[in-house]
Amino acid sequence: MVDDRFSYKLIRKDSATNARRGQITTAHGTIETPVFMPVGTYGSVKAISAADLEELGFEIILGNTYHLYLRPGDDLIADCGGLHRFNGWNHPILTDSGGYQIFSLKSLVKITEEGVLFRSHIDGSSHMFTPQKVIDIQKNLGGDIIMPLDICLEYPASKTEAYQSLLKTDRWEKEARDYWDKTQNGQALFGIVQGSVYPELRKIAAEKTMELDFPGYAIGGLSVGEPLNLMYEMTEVVTEFLPEDKPRYLMGLGSPLELLEAIARGIDMFDCVMPTRNARNGTLFTSRGKMTVKAASYKYDFRPIDEDCGCPVCERYNRAYIRHLFNVSEPNVLRLATIHNLFFISDLMKKAREHIEAGSFHSYLEHFRQAYV
Ligand SMILES: [Zn+2]
Repeated sequence: MVDDRFSYKLIRKDSATNARRGQITTAHGTIETPVFMPVGTYGSVKAISAADLEELGFEIILGNTYHLYLRPGDDLIADCGGLHRFNGWNHPILTDSGGYQIFSLKSLVKITEEGVLFRSHIDGSSHMFTPQKVIDIQKNLGGDIIMPLDICLEYPASKTEAYQSLLKTDRWEKEARDYWDKTQNGQALFGIVQGSVYPELRKIAAEKTMELDFPGYAIGGLSVGEPLNLMYEMTEVVTEFLPEDKPRYLMGLGSPLELLEAIARGIDMFDCVMPTRNARNGTLFTSRGKMTVKAASYKYDFRPIDEDCGCPVCERYNRAYIRHLFNVSEPNVLRLATIHNLFFISDLMKKAREHIEAGSFHSYLEHFRQAYV
């Protein structure tokens, strides 16, 4: 049974590509898709506030289960009434399963039949995540969309390893699905399709995940260092199997052109730390590609970061000033740079939605491919 507080409506399909315009409804509000979800690792998107995110037009953010479980602890967040109350973001939230952090932070000790044994990257303490435990933690956090425990492989992974991992992921997803069914409280549990870069494994994983009938589907294990053409090919292989009436989420994607290419292949939802992390490193998005604003060439450049950008930072400040702030390590520059990069992504999603509605998405994508180098 799927909780009726969560639903997806397909509004329009693009005729020239597989792009989709849709709408997700949750207990905390509506999300227009395609959508990008900024990552609030510890419940907060780094360097900016919940009010900033609202002004930038974001409708959903992501919280990291691994980090929030370790600090401040999901029990404390439950005591507060959930993550929405704790962090002041009264809009939809998606929480991940924690699996990706365990694998990417090298915290993993052992994968057993029951789950994942890991050590905290903070104090070395031992912890075990099982499919049920991960659901319980996410219930405490209270996100609108939650994810099941899965195995995230690095690239490259052998076909044998990828196959074994997808079988285990499928078993865990079934356990998570059964447990979620029994303890439903309005959160939507998505399925995750793994299978590394092997088309036949992606097909098997997609079929197995579909059999479990989730309210939404994610594609995992991509954007982990594989060549772009393989990432796009795997996306195409999987989306062919996904039902039209459920949202599709490609995990870990945040580069502007890659977002549009994935939208063209039928993806609705994205998340990534890249736009915010890049911003804090001084790598800024512009309509003509990435800019390293700390470079000496911007010392006397008094133009806005991006002359085509309508963000409050570009309206007021220039490149030389932003470069100067980075040079003197002025803390406020992290906020300014983050606002610019997130505005760029929010605006990109808005334009994608508008062009899908107007039937002009394909030409918009072509134009972007030419301009963004
Ligand atoms: Zn800007």
